[in-house]
Amino acid sequence: MSTLAKSLIVSLHDAHPGSHAAITEQVAFLAGYGITRSSILVVPEFHHEGSLTQDAAFCASVSGWQTAGHELVLHGYFHDRKESPPERLSTIFWTRLYTNREAEFLDLPRVTAEARLEKGRALFAAQGWRTTGFVAPAWLMAEDVPELLAEMGFAYTTRLREIVPLGPGANRPIPSQSLCYSTRAGWRRLASCVWNKQLYGRLRETDLIRLSLHPRDLEFPLIRRQLDQILRASLKRGFQPTTYGDYVAR
Ligand SMILES: [Zn+2]
Repeated sequence: MSTLAKSLIVSLHDAHPGSHAAITEQVAFLAGYGITRSSILVVPEFHHEGSLTQDAAFCASVSGWQTAGHELVLHGYFHDRKESPPERLSTIFWTRLYTNREAEFLDLPRVTAEARLEKGRALFAAQGWRTTGFVAPAWLMAEDVPELLAEMGFAYTTRLREIVPLGPGANRPIPSQSLCYSTRAGWRRLASCVWNKQLYGRLRETDLIRLSLHPRDLEFPLIRRQLDQILRASLKRGFQPTTYGDYVAR
């Protein structure tokens, strides 16, 4: 891939047995635009509701997405804060207001973070799922997590506003804010669409567009319409669909 190519990275967040139907629909939705490569963010034990390995049909779908050309990415381990340190004034904005208590990797002791990453990676390996990336729930992680990921051999992580290549000789973080919707309330959906329209206007002049989807996004006609416009316009402008893994490895 030429470094001059313009890239479109769509990521599908929060794949787990409970979102199986939603992610399946998103994969089909993207295929409708000829987009057959995205980064699918898989959660091993979503909200402590048991390991995804208990759902054979879901595992078969994930394997199928990998075979079809999508990238699988480790996305937290539990995606919640049930076993996290008590909340402090300095973290409460992120844990309660910015997210709905999902910022699992915000303040884990390093040894706990490492154990969860190892366990997640082992689960992926046992399923035959390749992964070179890790994305923390809500993109929130303690400052030492990227270094830990690098030591463990991960090739990249991402934040809302940047892609972070890791490991020896890695390039600097690549600034690029992801398009992303908040759907918890009507006003949030409306505000998201206004915000994303402006953000897209800036991104289309760059050589990288990141679009992050969450399981409920396609349920809302307002968001679906905007996604249709953004995807059509991006492809028309020559943005090539790719994955985070391939983008970082260019
Ligand atoms: Zn998530």
